[in-house]
Amino acid sequence: MEKIETIGAMQQLARKWLLEGHTIAVVPTMGALHQGHLSLIDLARQHADKVVATIFVNPTQFGPNEDFDGYPRNSEADELQLQAHLTDALFMPTSKEMYPDGFETRVELTRLPLHLCGMRREGHFVGVTTVVLKLFNAVQPQLAVFGEKDYQQLMIVRKMVRDLNLPVEIIAGPTVRAEDGLAMSSRNRYLDIHERKAAISIYQALVRARQLVNSGTVDTIILRQAMTEIIEQAGANVDYVAVIHPESLEELNVVGAKAHAAIAAFVGRTRLIDNIRLKD
Ligand code: AMP
Repeated sequence: MEKIETIGAMQQLARKWLLEGHTIAVVPTMGALHQGHLSLIDLARQHADKVVATIFVNPTQFGPNEDFDGYPRNSEADELQLQAHLTDALFMPTSKEMYPDGFETRVELTRLPLHLCGMRREGHFVGVTTVVLKLFNAVQPQLAVFGEKDYQQLMIVRKMVRDLNLPVEIIAGPTVRAEDGLAMSSRNRYLDIHERKAAISIYQALVRARQLVNSGTVDTIILRQAMTEIIEQAGANVDYVAVIHPESLEELNVVGAKAHAAIAAFVGRTRLIDNIRLKD
């Protein structure tokens, strides 16, 4: 596996691969890799013959009171896991490389961030879209793989690609869960054993919402109440529970032909998110 730290070296390798006729897929991550990330690497491999993982804990997508400094960083373990999954290159730029002095450009969507995490984490998605476009420009991929676990991010990246005519196909990877249903997340490492138990309530709440919809409930007030109760009973705190249209991300009053449930909750001080398809 090639390890690359500069944008110039990454672009050079990408150019060489493209001239040789290879297709390139990128899997952007913030490291502290787990099975969720690795499933995306495997999915990328099915679609392209060169797979590039990126690890960059992007400072611009963290708010001032968020966990940028404490975010788990474990590059040796990450490298071993990427090697085991036959990743061709790891692009791991420094913050200075990505944001040199004088950097001032932002990529901003105007509508999709006005929901869910976008309303709770000011500036978060500007940070995400700006860094994803920069990563695409460094890696020159034909394909990029993102997880459904970060559903709003996936939809926002897809929209950016469409709006800016980027020649990149976005592939979605299903959410990988622990045996008890908890969505895998780098932030699960923050949880103590009690919090780890309480965290299951997020998935349980989503499953309950799906059961209610399957048995005919369409009123989203009832769905939100049911989800909130399950989370609060477990001792976690709801940041939001939402029933949304899966494309516009707008909140629904009534479950129609398409609906998705999304939750953000604080388990102790750790903020976790998850979502589930209710109807498609
Ligand atoms: P992160 O390192 O948290 O920024 O995530 C990097 C990529 O991995 C994003 O596309 C996430 O949606 C995806 N991802 C994170 N957790 C999971 C999971 N449990 N299952 C599938 N994909 C995931």
